[in-house]
Amino acid sequence: MVMRFKSTVKDSRRYISRTGVTEGPYTVDEIYSMAVAGETNIHALFWSESKRAWKPLVGLMLDVDPERIDEFIQAGVKQVRVLGSGNRDCPACSALADKIFSITSPPVLPPQGCRCVPWCRLVLAAVQD
Ligand SMILES: [Zn+2]
Repeated sequence: MVMRFKSTVKDSRRYISRTGVTEGPYTVDEIYSMAVAGETNIHALFWSESKRAWKPLVGLMLDVDPERIDEFIQAGVKQVRVLGSGNRDCPACSALADKIFSITSPPVLPPQGCRCVPWCRLVLAAVQD
């Protein structure tokens, strides 16, 4: 089955797998509710249509709303800053928050070892100079 999305984050749906069984598709809101209710865990996966692969649930936001590095480059942006979500970030994300990277070597999000529940909330912002 091929899914094509041209919609908002809230309306986006993803198949998930918590026990090796494909479930859904669920909206981001529905997956969020399951996660905060403790119905998912760090091993839960979602199907990424763009990557054609099952990916850890911590990367869901970056699949629904990918970083647009190409657009930053076209706009002349030279550096990006990692924006965290404050005290809700896991240690791996906290270690990256507020760091600045060259646009040519942006960090891979979610960072390796991310254990955010339900998912990584880091975003890259253009550094204005
Ligand atoms: Zn994290």
